[in-house]
Amino acid sequence: MELLTTEITGAKQELRQERQAKTELEQKLKAETDARLKAEENAQAEAQKRTEIEEELNIQKELTAQANAEAGVQEEAIAQERKPLPFNIREIPAPKKTQPCDCCGRNDLALSELHKIDSGHLFCPDCFSALRR
Ligand SMILES: [Zn+2]
Repeated sequence: MELLTTEITGAKQELRQERQAKTELEQKLKAETDARLKAEENAQAEAQKRTEIEEELNIQKELTAQANAEAGVQEEAIAQERKPLPFNIREIPAPKKTQPCDCCGRNDLALSELHKIDSGHLFCPDCFSALRR
């Protein structure tokens, strides 16, 4: 009877130890799986990062190419602006500033060619001489 009890106790202990071993093994497996998953995640993150960097590099390359193209266009525009004018700008007379005659309304005379009468009105030479007559 006593032997049986010992045996049962021993069996129970064995079973407990086995269970513990199993639990430990499961925990170990889980830790390994977690580690592997984490490693995979890291690898994925790294791959993603690499893709992002590559994309950014591509965008920068494109931007640089675009900037270069734009700079080329601008240089061309500047070169065109620097081209000599087909005529000499000094040869063109400045537009005459005219003042209308307050009498007849003639508007082809400069202010210096008009006569200011006593009332303050500006008369063309014709109207002025007519007034004087
Ligand atoms: Zn006049």
